[in-house]
Amino acid sequence: MSQQIAIVGSGPSGLYVAEALGKLLPDAAIDVIDRLPTPYGLVRGGIAPDHQSTKNVTRQFERTLSRPGTRFLGNVEIGRDLTYDELKAAYDVVVLSIGAAVDRPLGIPGDALPGVYGSAAFVGWYNGHPTHADLAPLLDGTALAVIGNGNVALDVVRVIAKTQAELAASDICVHAGEAMAAANLTDLYIIGRRGPVEASFTSKELGELGDLERCDVIVDPQQLPADVGSHVPEKEVKVKQRNLEILREFASRPLGERAMRLHILFCAAPVAVLGEERVRTLVLERTRLEQGRAVATGERFELPVQTVVSAIGYRTAPFPGVPFDEARGILANDEGLIEPGVYASGWCKHGPRGVVGTNRTDAQGLVQRIVSELDQTPEHAHKFGGAEIDRLLRERGAVVVDFEAWREIDRAEVSRAQGAKPREKFVRVQEMLEAAFALPGDERH
Ligand SMILES: Cc1cc2nc3c(=O)[nH]c(=O)nc-3n(C[C@H](O)[C@H](O)[C@H](O)COP(=O)(O)OP(=O)(O)OC[C@H]3O[C@@H](n4cnc5c(N)ncnc54)[C@H](O)[C@@H]3O)c2cc1C
Repeated sequence: MSQQIAIVGSGPSGLYVAEALGKLLPDAAIDVIDRLPTPYGLVRGGIAPDHQSTKNVTRQFERTLSRPGTRFLGNVEIGRDLTYDELKAAYDVVVLSIGAAVDRPLGIPGDALPGVYGSAAFVGWYNGHPTHADLAPLLDGTALAVIGNGNVALDVVRVIAKTQAELAASDICVHAGEAMAAANLTDLYIIGRRGPVEASFTSKELGELGDLERCDVIVDPQQLPADVGSHVPEKEVKVKQRNLEILREFASRPLGERAMRLHILFCAAPVAVLGEERVRTLVLERTRLEQGRAVATGERFELPVQTVVSAIGYRTAPFPGVPFDEARGILANDEGLIEPGVYASGWCKHGPRGVVGTNRTDAQGLVQRIVSELDQTPEHAHKFGGAEIDRLLRERGAVVVDFEAWREIDRAEVSRAQGAKPREKFVRVQEMLEAAFALPGDERH
């Protein structure tokens, strides 16, 4: 009997695990289960809509999901449609690849005021994630601050700063594109607790800020050190040096007359968000650096902003039945092992770091381990797998979106964009299901 394997989560880590397992265990039956009717996790719902080439990896993922023996079971949520115990009973191996979709809170007074958003919610809103489609962020002020010094923070300010023409070839959702076009923002801030060397920007993304049509970039040259410093690990020196060069070039630019200004502020830690009904002011404390660590100085200053987006990292949502590592915000695991036969991969295993490709290397290592442990425990190899799961899902009236049904959604999204952009995403599960199961003549299942 072939091995029965379930992978929960169809983001990069889950699909790289599926790819590697498919190669090592060609006879295995692999079910990739996702709570959304659409696959690809953050490649669809996180990666910036104007970075279409980064999303090309989905072609490789399509091949993985089309492999004989591999099935996609979309619109199936563990915890809602199936339990963890049912998964363990049905499959020889279960791999949890559920990502880290919960924003780390700012944890300062006022962080729950209307006008403060986590980047998972904000990015999910402009990228059409059904959970965040109704966010309707307040964008009616003149100033917006993004807290965080990683690429997600750069994505957020860049997408906001771009004109509709600059976003024309993106797949930003129409509701978000319109809301941004209607906004009257003149000042954007990107704020880091530490300095330019400690920021985890990649140079390409940082450099893109210099090409924005309607936005000048403002950097205080006094915040830029002469060199990267001795605390920077050797393998990071080059990128840090390049980032400093880019920032110096920004700092040397004469202030232009563009409609927007993007202020890049370093060594400023958020202390409080003030406002009665909504955000009015962001209070910050200047920090100084000691070997790359931010030390508070006690000197405070205020920025009048009406919207705050925090991009300071993510946590995994606890998964019913699986021990949780509260401190790290991940599923408790030992090098990927949760319990015999159950593993974690990707962001829910090690936290939110690395790019899409990092998950591939990681998945290959994990799959070696899974296969060797499967060999040692032959008694695990006698389960009913997908057949039992299909029966349970049928009994419960679940509407399962398989790979062909996802292709229908995909085709409908591309078609309704009418060539004007790569796709116009459906942002509600119901719309997705209607597209998935549409019949000729617009009859519905
Ligand atoms: C805003 C943002 C922008 C990024 N931009 C880039 C970029 O430009 N380039 C780059 O290389 N990397 C980028 N990354 C990083 C990249 O997206 C991650 O490395 C990668 O997505 C992590 O993969 P994952 O599979 O662990 O998680 P995810 O991609 O989050 O996938 C998790 C999947 O699990 C599903 N799931 C969750 N809970 C359940 C459940 N209970 N039942 C069933 N299914 C469930 C989710 O629906 C989702 O499909 C970005 C990340 C973010 C947040």
